[in-house]
Amino acid sequence: MSKLQIIDLHVSVEGKEILKGVNLEMNTNEFHVIMGPNGTGKSTLAATIMGHYKYEVTKGQILLDGEDVLSMSVDERSRKGLFLAMQYPSEIEGVTNSEFIKTAMQARLGEGERISLFKFIKALEGATSELKMNPDLPHRYVNVGFSGGEKKRNEILQLKILKPKFAILDEIDSGLDVDALRIVGENVNDMKSENFGALVITHYERLLDYIKPDFTHVLMNGQIVRSGGLDLMEKIDQEGYDWLKEELGITTQPEKIKAVSIGTCAVKQTIGK
Ligand code: ADP
Ligand code: MG
Repeated sequence: MSKLQIIDLHVSVEGKEILKGVNLEMNTNEFHVIMGPNGTGKSTLAATIMGHYKYEVTKGQILLDGEDVLSMSVDERSRKGLFLAMQYPSEIEGVTNSEFIKTAMQARLGEGERISLFKFIKALEGATSELKMNPDLPHRYVNVGFSGGEKKRNEILQLKILKPKFAILDEIDSGLDVDALRIVGENVNDMKSENFGALVITHYERLLDYIKPDFTHVLMNGQIVRSGGLDLMEKIDQEGYDWLKEELGITTQPEKIKAVSIGTCAVKQTIGK
């Protein structure tokens, strides 16, 4: 059993504070869902947990089984058992999927240990088939020329083989058709165990037909403003966020835009922020 704790986390991006005191605690064998309006900091939270250099932690802590995650490099975080399935997976020209995953697996072994090629190929073929992926995909360059849905499935392929303790799935459902959604959802759901838990960022209840969540959290204005169970998720799915904003007294004013003339060009400038 492992524990991931996020304590009073404040994060700035390009000098702007996005997360303003996020508190979240999760264990393996649990699935937590984070919902929230666009631009509210969900991907910022995901990127910060994994250690993206652009996201500056100004206050707070992230602990994995009591160890300080924030002082770890990205690869150390990965080797310790954190995994991020990205909202927008990157393409890596010149590196095949199988080389990429094999290198990541090798990096998890101790000095002098070598990955068994036989076991690796078996695991890769097994996971590819369970995800009903085209058998060619592992041998092509990472995500290059993949469709949106194939890229998302490829993130789950890595997840299945690397077997982290905690996976953060950032809108893994966007771009998936209904069949792919079911396959991805079922594959993640089947991983739930004493050694695996997930933080699922999603807008859609549909994914949660397959990934059964234990807790739902709403991130708004840089904080988790409400936590609950399935009922909270269903209410948001049906009614949106307005009722919650009203309850919390959050007013979201549209940005005021004014036209400014510079020479012969008219440009838009955001004011009042
Ligand atoms: P969400 O995932 O909830 O839609 P994000 O975490 O992507 O929201 O973004 C939260 C806010 O932080 C947005 O205003 C976004 O423009 C800003 N932001 C996020 N990442 C960056 C970045 N790398 N550079 C500049 N601004 C960013
Ligand atoms: Mg996002």
